Amino acid sequence: ASVENDISGTDNKGFKGHDMLAPFTAGWQSTDVDPLIIEKSEGSYVYDNKGRKYLDTLAGLWCTALGGNEPRLVEAATKQLNTLPFYHSFWNRTTKPSLDLAKELLDMFTAKKMAKAFFTNSGSEANDTQVKLVWYYNNALGRPNKKKFIARAKAYHGSTLISASETEEEFSTRLAKNLEDLILKEGPDTIAAFIAEPVMGAGGVIPPPATYFDKIQAVVKKYDILFIADEVICAFGRLGTMFGCDKYNIKPDLVSLAKVVYDIGLDNQENKREARERNMVERVNSISPKFQEGLKAFSDSPIVGEIRGTGLILATEFADNKSPNDPFPPEWGIGAYFGAQCEKNGMLVRVAGDTIMMSPPFIATPEELDELISIYGKALRETE
Ligand code: PLP
Repeated sequence: ASVENDISGTDNKGFKGHDMLAPFTAGWQSTDVDPLIIEKSEGSYVYDNKGRKYLDTLAGLWCTALGGNEPRLVEAATKQLNTLPFYHSFWNRTTKPSLDLAKELLDMFTAKKMAKAFFTNSGSEANDTQVKLVWYYNNALGRPNKKKFIARAKAYHGSTLISASETEEEFSTRLAKNLEDLILKEGPDTIAAFIAEPVMGAGGVIPPPATYFDKIQAVVKKYDILFIADEVICAFGRLGTMFGCDKYNIKPDLVSLAKVVYDIGLDNQENKREARERNMVERVNSISPKFQEGLKAFSDSPIVGEIRGTGLILATEFADNKSPNDPFPPEWGIGAYFGAQCEKNGMLVRVAGDTIMMSPPFIATPEELDELISIYGKALRETE
């Protein structure tokens, strides 16, 4: 689509000298910026079109857990492209890889027995499909008014643990009570489902406080509300368990998966599959302490409000270290400045206001994590 008029009230041309408008282009970002053009990837690194090398600490926006050019994935994709590049799965038609993958996913997800897998093109569509399935389910059960969904607003981010003078358990009790109050206010007969990420990702990497999901699940169960686990970021090992549901004892009714490619098709024998699964999770568990502890060691920096995370996912929230609940004035642009220092030093991070996020690929080596921690420290000193 072409955009003829300025949509943001600023001189919104998107990328300087290019015809493309990127998703989430807005405000200060939108005024004719020079894009960083990434041209190739090699393991944990990507290269731009000028040949500069960057450690990609976000694994291509939470996706490339096995790095940029894992040979087994390239081989599997090439083989499939040569055999059958496209076919659909409508009516009674489908493909063998689709059936194999569905079986594999159902076998893998052990937190609760899932009945069927439904494929979509993205995490967004997976969640959209959950809405349709849940509506259909409640219509079929003769309760057409039970259609509303409860999601945790990003506002949850505003009630982080550091702001609360209570234990994690007390905090969880309060959140469960808030949820129950909302359900009662809306009418339990109108609420179809509750959706949550095991660890909130894009909202700022917020792991659940202790006992949170136990208490939330008890509330939704009490009112016959379905639980949808959005595992788009957490699934396949990121948190050090195969799924986020395993880590927090979540027994969802529906699960959304996306992002990380789980490779099947090259070999399907049970023992090999188990070994591969164990390898991914073990790999995350073997490197994540270095990642978490190495970065959390910077928690005393005067501009760090909080560093939080688990497994291979972590966020830094910039704020006055002495007063972490008071954000810096947004116009100071601390997060963006830190992100630019990282980029200058050969590392890409995700910047969201004054929160920066990292989720390195599982294949990151100890040496690459040393480099990540060292560039982070350098960028922090340059920002302080
Ligand atoms: N759910 C979560 C938790 C996500 O983080 C994202 C994207 O980052 C999505 C859904 C959407 O996934 P996709 O980008 O594949 O549409």
